[in-house]
Amino acid sequence: MANTDTHEGGCLCGNVRYSITGPLEFSAHCHCRSCQMASGAGFATWAGIKTSSFDVTKGAIKICETSPGVERGFCGNCGTSLTYANESGWPGIISALAVTLDDPTFVEPSGHVFTSNQQPWIKLDDGLPTSPEF
Ligand SMILES: [Zn+2]
Ligand SMILES: [Zn+2]
Repeated sequence: MANTDTHEGGCLCGNVRYSITGPLEFSAHCHCRSCQMASGAGFATWAGIKTSSFDVTKGAIKICETSPGVERGFCGNCGTSLTYANESGWPGIISALAVTLDDPTFVEPSGHVFTSNQQPWIKLDDGLPTSPEF
């Protein structure tokens, strides 16, 4: 992702749209229980970007503080999980769920974290590094 590239994304119903501009700070698959619950999936694939490079372009993201300081964002209409922010842990960074990008294929996750919570029916064979916690 080049510095000037803009990628758009949004929720399933289309009420919320967002854009990200510039290089991703990181991308990783998270297997923690909170991400499993919030995404409704076996694990969540995040694309982290500077908060200043993230814009909501349509509608509004609803925020739920799912643990102290952790703000997870979702569409209040269709419930699609969209974002994660934790100002104390990741200052100035917001993460979007990669699959909510219109074209998620450019995201290159660098590894799997919180594999201590990995479900036994998730079989990893992508050769990426794993970490039991973070
Ligand atoms: Zn929606
Ligand atoms: Zn997680």
